[in-house]
Amino acid sequence: MTLRSWGRLPGDAAAYERWWAERAAALPELDGSLLAYGNGRSYGDVCLNGGATLLHTRGLDRFIAFDEASGVLRCEAGVLLSEILDVFVPRGWFLPVTPGTRFITVGGAIANDVHGKNHHGAGTFGCHVRRFELLRSDGSRRLCSPGENADWFAATIGGLGLTGLITWVEMELKRIAGVGMAIENYRFNGLDEFFSRNATAEASHEYTVAWIDCLAATPRGIFVAGDHAAAGDLADVPGKPGSLPLTLPPDWPFSLVNGASLRVFNQAYYHRPLPAQAVVHYEPFFYPLDAVAHWNRLYGRQAFYQYQFVLPMVARTALDDILRFIAASGQGSFLAVLKTFGHLTSPGLLSFPMPGVTLALDFPNRGAPTLALFERLDAMVGAAGGRLYAAKDARMSGEFFRRSTPRLSEFMPYIDPKFSSGFARRVLP
Ligand SMILES: Cc1cc2nc3c(=O)[nH]c(=O)nc-3n(C[C@H](O)[C@H](O)[C@H](O)COP(=O)(O)OP(=O)(O)OC[C@H]3O[C@@H](n4cnc5c(N)ncnc54)[C@H](O)[C@@H]3O)c2cc1C
Repeated sequence: MTLRSWGRLPGDAAAYERWWAERAAALPELDGSLLAYGNGRSYGDVCLNGGATLLHTRGLDRFIAFDEASGVLRCEAGVLLSEILDVFVPRGWFLPVTPGTRFITVGGAIANDVHGKNHHGAGTFGCHVRRFELLRSDGSRRLCSPGENADWFAATIGGLGLTGLITWVEMELKRIAGVGMAIENYRFNGLDEFFSRNATAEASHEYTVAWIDCLAATPRGIFVAGDHAAAGDLADVPGKPGSLPLTLPPDWPFSLVNGASLRVFNQAYYHRPLPAQAVVHYEPFFYPLDAVAHWNRLYGRQAFYQYQFVLPMVARTALDDILRFIAASGQGSFLAVLKTFGHLTSPGLLSFPMPGVTLALDFPNRGAPTLALFERLDAMVGAAGGRLYAAKDARMSGEFFRRSTPRLSEFMPYIDPKFSSGFARRVLP
């Protein structure tokens, strides 16, 4: 098996892939470097280690302990968020923070300090981690928490897998009444309407997110606000939806995503019938893309990039300019995801979120024109004081990363000398 990342861009194959299943085992003695690989849901080379070793951690898949009174779960780092949901939702517990796919490992969630639709109230995943064990290549094992080895805790949360291997994790789950989500949908036209809708919704709803059509001349989209449904509202929750039977072979030759298909899809999505209010199962609310297995193969052999940036709120007008620029480039994306980040400080030195607004877009890889577009976008994001998300990146320059990562020099001493990644070799000093 060749381990890849979600963007499926060519190159950067590991020379050795090792299955890692025993948390008490020592790390292998190697000449070259190594890197933990979770479930490859990062889009670029943050989870790849071209020409060297990847330690595939999905074998670390055991639950260790659970405290029913406090909701504190201890599990191995290769456990998937989907496995936690399968076991704990029926017992009335949910993840404190979840990204837009549930097929990621707990170790991957920490290493990228992932965020979800509740960032404005809950912060990042790392805000809910109590402690973990970090195994270094010198054989040492450290318990890391906000009170013990706090510097290692801060370096490893959002530390891009470079500080060592996380073997197990203790994290907080949150109480829910059941599988239902009470949601509200709104269509909006223009960014002013998005920001005003968002400000109201964030004050009263736990989760908010918007899908925007960035091919439209004026950005328009669908804004969704939601909360876990109360016990009294659960009677009518539809059952768990199945996966769509769409699947493509891994070597699908050409991209089904082009200007024409994007326009048709985005139009249809925007105009589809939309209930103003509904109670739905949590899966389509949190994980709409998970319903289509291997949707990343739609882009064919040329594969695709995701571009996610955050801008400080004062630079809001730069968002208009960026969206106008993308629409004019004709290289738009399927629905882009727009979300504001709140003010809760992330615990990690390199965590991506900062107070402001974030946008994530997919671009088919058309080679030089796509890379040229990114250069222009980088310049706009950089000038506005923004940064790019390493978990989604496969091409930002080292210069851009270093300039937009204010705590990088604090982080550098914690890198394990044996650990490396394609991303690290590209961007670190
Ligand atoms: C459809 C989709 C939607 C997404 N939505 C969001 C979103 O809403 N918000 C968000 O923040 N992200 C989102 N992501 C990105 C994804 O959540 C992150 O890339 C996540 O880190 C992937 O976890 P993984 O287990 O697949 O790890 P991998 O991608 O395999 O690895 C990610 C990093 O974690 C490190 N790592 C993995 N395991 C360990 C370990 N045991 N010890 C030390 N380091 C380790 C790796 O070295 C690597 O640096 C999305 C991705 C997809 C495909």
